[in-house]
Amino acid sequence: MDSIFTRIIKGEIPSYKIAENDCCFAFLDINPLAKGHTLLVPKKEVDYLFDLDNALYTELMLFAKKIAPAIEKTVPCERIGMAVLGLEVPHAHIHLVPIRSIADLDFSKPKLKLCESEFSALAAGIRANLD
Ligand code: 5GP
Repeated sequence: MDSIFTRIIKGEIPSYKIAENDCCFAFLDINPLAKGHTLLVPKKEVDYLFDLDNALYTELMLFAKKIAPAIEKTVPCERIGMAVLGLEVPHAHIHLVPIRSIADLDFSKPKLKLCESEFSALAAGIRANLD
């Protein structure tokens, strides 16, 4: 059975899409730690990030390097933090989160509740700031 992220990539489940290329897809996390919290996923369904082959792992990291500045331009923050958990969804992914302090990357904190228009505006803003 396809993972929830594969279903998002296929468009079977809606998402607030940021960008995609041949091998990677970016969309807003639906339970964000901060406004602009974005997930980057390889289109190939591999559970564990560190099991990706070197080429795809590198592509995903380069994709992060392209997306992070656009988030940073959109959401006031000091920098973009990057985290890998994978405890909930067994499809490799990277979290990019706008941060100001170490506490902003505490995934045990309550998540933000954003409405559809807030998610849409954030995704549109990040897309507009992509180079
Ligand atoms: P992890 O596997 O890294 O522990 O957490 C998975 C992340 O995926 C969580 O932050 C969760 O909010 C996010 N997530 C889970 N299901 C969905 C979904 O259907 N849509 C979106 N946009 N994010 C999801």
